Amino acid sequence: MWQPDREAMERTALAGLVLERMRATLTRARTNPAWVRRLGGARPDDLRHLDDWQRLPFLTKDALRDAYPFGLACGGDEGYARVHMSSGTTGNPILNPYTASDVAQWGEVMARCYVAAGVGRDDVIQITPSFGLFTGGFGFHYGAERLGATVIPIGAGRTSLQLKLMRDLRATVVTAIATYPLRLIEVAREEGVDVGDLALRVGIFGSEMWSDDLRARIERELRIRAYDIIGMTETGGPGLGIDCAARAGIHVWEDHYHPEIVDPATGAARPDGVEGELVVSTLTRQGLPLIRYRTHDLTRVVSRAPCACGRTALRLDRLRGRTDDMVIFKGVNFYPRQVETVVLRQPGVSHEYQVVLDAEGGGERMVVVVETEPGCDPGVGVRIRRELHDLLALSPEVRLCPEGTLERPQGKAVRVIDRRGR
Ligand SMILES: [Zn+2]
Repeated sequence: MWQPDREAMERTALAGLVLERMRATLTRARTNPAWVRRLGGARPDDLRHLDDWQRLPFLTKDALRDAYPFGLACGGDEGYARVHMSSGTTGNPILNPYTASDVAQWGEVMARCYVAAGVGRDDVIQITPSFGLFTGGFGFHYGAERLGATVIPIGAGRTSLQLKLMRDLRATVVTAIATYPLRLIEVAREEGVDVGDLALRVGIFGSEMWSDDLRARIERELRIRAYDIIGMTETGGPGLGIDCAARAGIHVWEDHYHPEIVDPATGAARPDGVEGELVVSTLTRQGLPLIRYRTHDLTRVVSRAPCACGRTALRLDRLRGRTDDMVIFKGVNFYPRQVETVVLRQPGVSHEYQVVLDAEGGGERMVVVVETEPGCDPGVGVRIRRELHDLLALSPEVRLCPEGTLERPQGKAVRVIDRRGR
């Protein structure tokens, strides 16, 4: 552990610390009149128990967009050291202004994440997310500096160069957006780079939904152990939590972040073990404190018991999907990741697939486009269709095409194309 006194803190003591930090967060938020209006007069002294936090109003993505650029910021006299921004598709972007203390906090939680993934100061860490307004690159960088590891801050793209440096500089750790390792594997194959010549042993991936099956495939092909890191621009970037060697859920650093799971429709609390929407409050962030932020991510609390790794921080399930990328087709609800699970467990198919939804006549049509490797059994299409029917009650058309047919976008993968209109 990087900070055993915090990561393995006894839970009663942890609860006391969380309550104290909730009050501090409320105090800081109340320095901004826009927050005072939002919070309807709630005061730090009103918080007597952790559950009292649930009486505060939710903060939504739209509220953060409407607050562009600094409407809900609380940097005060200290001012800001940095601004990061989320890659939204419509309307104002969401800005997160960091104080110097926030940048330091980020380095701390990222160092914890690296150590949970078995990474230390002797490692050579190749950072493949971009450095810029996106939080990925810098977050991995600060954590690595904290550890004292060697950093290769290459940033996004240039996959041939990535592989060359990875091999020649003996990188032992790769950090990436979750589907980027697939691109590395493909380009290595195209260019005849032998993965066996690499010194990689650990991958830390996040920022996209990726199924257990995709993880197994990446681990097998890159011969690494892969860890799932979570976090978003609004919470201060990656570093909200990570899974550990026990692979028994994602530890959330509860002395910095307070997670809740709620019913996405009503906002009511959901008990441990039951899936719902993740709501995150920050406990130590200054520039943009979050109070009960609706993330739209779906998960559940796996356990609050101590983990085999010794950490006591609660564990969330790997993210299952987002409330806003749920697809409804002919009355059936599903998440792209569920389709991914069925596709990727078939031998002979590539890791690329796409779900295409079209309006047709008065009805609608769903096609799952799957890339196959040379020599793949042509019966795989029928099998995928049958399994999607058994598992999800979906009956899509399955179209097989040769590997390399689907476009590989820069950045996040596009899994669903919905042309049905509204
Ligand atoms: Zn653990």
